Amino acid sequence: MIWRKLKSFHLNFYQKILFLFIALAVIPQVLMSWFALTQVKHSIQQTVHNSSEKILNDVLKLQQDNLLNQTRLMDKEMAEIQASVRSIQQQAENIFRYRASFRPIPGAFKIQKEKAGYYWEPVPPHARRSNVGISSIVPLTAQLKAGLALTKHLEALLINAVEQNPNLVTMYIVLRESAWRIYPALNIPEEIASGQMRPDFKVQDYSFYYSADPGNNPERKVVWTRPYLDITRRGWMTSAVAPVYLPDGTFRGVVGADYTIEQMIKGALNIGFKEPGAYAFLVDDTGRLVALPAKGKADFTIKGITPLPGTSLDSLDNPDLSKAIRTITQNHRAQPLLKVGGEEKYLLSAPLKATNWHLAFLIPAREITNPITTTAVSQIKQAVMFITGRLLAWDGFLVWLTLSAAFVLAHSVDIPIYRLTAGARAISQGEIGIQIPETGHDELATLARTFNSMSRKIAELLADLEAKAREQADLNEKLVEINWYLERRVKERTAELAETNTYLEAANKRLQSMEDSRRQLLANISHDLKTPITLIQGYVEALRDGIAAEPGDAEKYLDIIHSKTLDLNRLINDLLVLSRLESSQLPMDFVPIPATEAITSAAKKVAPDIIRAGLEFVLEVPVNLPEIRIDPDRLDRVFANLVVNAINHTPAGGAITLRTGLGQDHSAGHILVELKDTGAGIPPEHLPHIFTRFYRVDKSRRKPLGGSGLGLTIAREIITAHGGTVWAESSPGQGSSFFFTLPLKKPASA
Ligand code: ADP
Repeated sequence: MIWRKLKSFHLNFYQKILFLFIALAVIPQVLMSWFALTQVKHSIQQTVHNSSEKILNDVLKLQQDNLLNQTRLMDKEMAEIQASVRSIQQQAENIFRYRASFRPIPGAFKIQKEKAGYYWEPVPPHARRSNVGISSIVPLTAQLKAGLALTKHLEALLINAVEQNPNLVTMYIVLRESAWRIYPALNIPEEIASGQMRPDFKVQDYSFYYSADPGNNPERKVVWTRPYLDITRRGWMTSAVAPVYLPDGTFRGVVGADYTIEQMIKGALNIGFKEPGAYAFLVDDTGRLVALPAKGKADFTIKGITPLPGTSLDSLDNPDLSKAIRTITQNHRAQPLLKVGGEEKYLLSAPLKATNWHLAFLIPAREITNPITTTAVSQIKQAVMFITGRLLAWDGFLVWLTLSAAFVLAHSVDIPIYRLTAGARAISQGEIGIQIPETGHDELATLARTFNSMSRKIAELLADLEAKAREQADLNEKLVEINWYLERRVKERTAELAETNTYLEAANKRLQSMEDSRRQLLANISHDLKTPITLIQGYVEALRDGIAAEPGDAEKYLDIIHSKTLDLNRLINDLLVLSRLESSQLPMDFVPIPATEAITSAAKKVAPDIIRAGLEFVLEVPVNLPEIRIDPDRLDRVFANLVVNAINHTPAGGAITLRTGLGQDHSAGHILVELKDTGAGIPPEHLPHIFTRFYRVDKSRRKPLGGSGLGLTIAREIITAHGGTVWAESSPGQGSSFFFTLPLKKPASA
């Protein structure tokens, strides 16, 4: 009907041409609109795809950095525990090496025997003390007791290490006899009653012992055990352990520190994720599980059951996850996308240097990309529907448009569509948020407004996502800061411990050398006393048994006994004087006196002995030397000792010279006294030792040249008490010179 009506409707040529033109204009217009729409849709989709891929990569990179920082943090924490174990190991070895210097601490070793046969040391609950325990399989020998008593010297270090480090729950030393000291102290009967710990406990059966023994740890390092179930009911744990060796290379036991898996999860695996489905877990270098938070239990099953720490993850119900974990343990840094628990998850990982364990994250992919794609896709849908609706309406409207407006309209439609396409292309090339002109009030202007609003929304969405990425970066920065702080703490702790160790080593050496010199001194004294006493005893026995046959013999023997008694008396006196001088018990009676007078008076006293020995005595003392402060009696003793030596070593016909003057250079402010002889001199190799107690140059020729070997030591002590110094110079064959200085009396004290 309509067709017939249209047929009856006659058009003139112009009208036909116009219709043809309109048809020619409208059809390409419709096609172009359709094409433009497809372009816009495609470009926007491409943009969203590109940005979501970029953001996904950024988030994965941030998470990977976060993971590395996290492992650094864990490494620091474990390194701190290792440092504590190493310092206890060193101190334990020191204690066994210098055991003579470490006396048992009085009252430190009280143990009692329990019915089940083991020994232990009861400690009140919560006392800041360690305690010892001994398995019933070993006899309680004196040697074992002494060993355990020595470990009391480790107590302060054990307590300090546990208190300083919140990650460290227990520290101990375990001796190879299945005896141990531990802090915090154990209530051993209670542990045994619980059934986990046995009274005939044998340490060789436990990884916290054998992991460090010579067979498993010949390099004597601090090593980490596999996770094991603690026998004192503290749950799953891993321990840092190190061996203790005696100086002769015998393996004596181990020291160790416990780190519970619970503590590890608390400290390191409870990382706050923005993605609610993400979590971290730990595997060791052989692919065994170390720690798994509650969140991960559903993903990790073997025949439907969650594995315990220490179990191999090679046969998980999810073989892809098993394979991916294998890859991690071989240090491959893949970030595979796996199907775990019904959804796609990324597996990130980083190795722990301390143990070669691996910290891994599982993050649902959906949770990373969701916010980007869902919002963007719905935006696109809305925009495209809107644009399509409007375009169709507009195209329909165009068909019905009046003939005369056809060209003008067609022309006016082209430009806004072109702008729209150009705008969409600009977005696809990254110019997010671009706006196109919204001239006019027609449908195309509305279309342009819709395009602009959509472009703005995409820009806002991207800005929002960027802000979230920045938040992650801030979190990262904070972790770096914590790391830095921890690093500094580890350094400080290590330095403190090193200082304590150096101090202890020096103290040990000092004690050892004091002990050596005391022993040497005792040996000398007893030797020097024994010789004259044995001689006296011999002669007295001879007298008693009437062996003296000749008439004069008895008298001769008595003379010898008398002279030996005098020697003995002199030696004992010398020793007494020396010991008092050394302990500053001999009071000095200082008087101010002009040096000239002091030296001349001392010279007068020794002169007769020199002359009697057939020697020449030369005295060179300037007349007006300044005042000095001396104890005249003690100074006489110095002169007497030096002169006796000079007489004894100078043959008749020689000379002894006493020379005095003001000291120069290093002895300025002193007077310098020199006593020179023309005797045999002192060989250079003996010169540094002659002031040492009991030192004699010629040990065989004691009589008549030698005395007790104490004369010079006494002289040195007296001069030192005066604030002066004494020394000798000599070239063999040329005689010897003994010098000493005495400080001048200070004007202030005048
Ligand atoms: P002694 O009582 O044996 O003399 P001293 O301590 O007085 O002990 O001296 C230590 C050693 O120094 C002596 O054994 C002696 O050999 C040597 N000595 C001391 N004075 C002289 C000297 N003037 N000439 C040579 N040797 C000396």
